[in-house]
Amino acid sequence: MTAAIALQRAGIDAVVFERDASPMGTTAMSTGLIPGAGSRLQKSKGIDDSAEIFALDIVAKTKGQCDADFVRGLTKASGRTIDWLADDLGLDLSLVEGFLYPGHSRLRMHGMPSRSGAELMGALSRAAEACGVSVLTRSLVEDLIVDDEDRVLGMTLRRPDGALETYGCDFAILACCGFAGNPDLVKELIPELTHATFYGHPGNKGDAMRWTRDLGAAMADIGGYQGHAGLAVGHGIPILWPLIAEGGIQVNAEGNRFADESRGYSDQAVDVLAQTGHFAWSVFDEQRHRVMLQFADYKDAMAAGCIITSDSIEGLAQATALPHHALMQTVTETHDLCRSGRPDRFGRSFAGKAPLEAPFYAVKVTGALFHTQGGCQVTAAGQVRRASGGLFPNLYAGGGAARGVSGPGGWGYIAGNGLMTATTLGRSAGEAIAAAIKSSS
Ligand SMILES: Cc1cc2nc3c(=O)[nH]c(=O)nc-3n(C[C@H](O)[C@H](O)[C@H](O)COP(=O)(O)OP(=O)(O)OC[C@H]3O[C@@H](n4cnc5c(N)ncnc54)[C@H](O)[C@@H]3O)c2cc1C
Repeated sequence: MTAAIALQRAGIDAVVFERDASPMGTTAMSTGLIPGAGSRLQKSKGIDDSAEIFALDIVAKTKGQCDADFVRGLTKASGRTIDWLADDLGLDLSLVEGFLYPGHSRLRMHGMPSRSGAELMGALSRAAEACGVSVLTRSLVEDLIVDDEDRVLGMTLRRPDGALETYGCDFAILACCGFAGNPDLVKELIPELTHATFYGHPGNKGDAMRWTRDLGAAMADIGGYQGHAGLAVGHGIPILWPLIAEGGIQVNAEGNRFADESRGYSDQAVDVLAQTGHFAWSVFDEQRHRVMLQFADYKDAMAAGCIITSDSIEGLAQATALPHHALMQTVTETHDLCRSGRPDRFGRSFAGKAPLEAPFYAVKVTGALFHTQGGCQVTAAGQVRRASGGLFPNLYAGGGAARGVSGPGGWGYIAGNGLMTATTLGRSAGEAIAAAIKSSS
């Protein structure tokens, strides 16, 4: 959508082919928070951030196992993407304040008022319509039509009545995310998620990966993904990570902590899945509950009855069927850790965090797969790279359809990696293609 808007605003006709009845995708399921370094909104709040600081955060989270030049290219364009969305397209974005997502050294997440991806998708759809982008829904792209020099001439697409249609194009941009909606591929390529609940968009079957691999694109990080250790069991509602980042904890069925939750929600997903029954309880209190009230998902979780609360640890243990003594001991331990500031046996520090105090809250969660991060390698403008060197002449990819910035596993993902690569590569690809068309005409 961002690529199509960038093209259309530059005077180039763009068409979006979407398999579903309306363009929602993973984006509409998401929290819709987009990171951007050096945005106007950051500057207005006095946040001292830069593309380099942001890139260093990403490289550190992946332990250096990402393409640092590619990361720098994206972080450099990320602030401009936020300004473009907010100022040029008029999206009602604001800086998310009050907590830092693990791995981010600065406040740099920007979101819509409800902090929901559905609101973001709605605003993008309106912006696309306003500038004249054509969106053809119920159009499942089946294949790319490519000539002997690997130039994409068009694509075939299946319509709901079974008809196969062919469209020609000057340039193609793949924006159909990864393979999280393809259980066979997930089992084969990310076996550690065998017990994970899939909470992404079911339409993302890995088409971009198949097309680009078959064409001979350079592929990378196929085992990379965004996991989440906070999907409410039985409700399928994501319970977002600020409650943990701000000092909450996760305990297993035995009432014990089992990992350093502060590494991030994606890393922690595999640890939750390794516990008895493949679940955990996120335990927090009134102070973190208040932080969470800004999120639409959390309000949904409350309305659905999955957030349990009690004035005492004993009451919380009864309501959750957790062993009282073990839970009490675990919470007492975190009190000591808050006071001492010493790292615990997992390496987590509670320094500067307020201890958990009554009333207490808990929610039963499991590990989920949100989307995959591996795929074809692209330039910072989204142009697809050949495995043999060089670039495909008119093929671009972005978002989950391309290799991201999270390294080879789930542990390298930091919040925002998904929508940064979707929005920034989208805008950059659209602008680069528009410039190429103008310079050749
Ligand atoms: C609960 C949740 C919360 C998240 N929160 C955040 C967040 O706050 N910040 C962040 O950065 N990331 C977040 N993410 C990740 C983020 O949503 C994704 O990284 C991002 O939406 C991917 O965008 P995309 O455009 O690549 O794919 P999508 O938004 O999934 O769009 C792909 C579209 O392509 C369509 N499609 C697929 N195959 C075809 C085909 N062959 N032909 C035609 N159409 C096709 C699909 O129907 C879909 O509409 C979250 C994810 C989840 C699940």
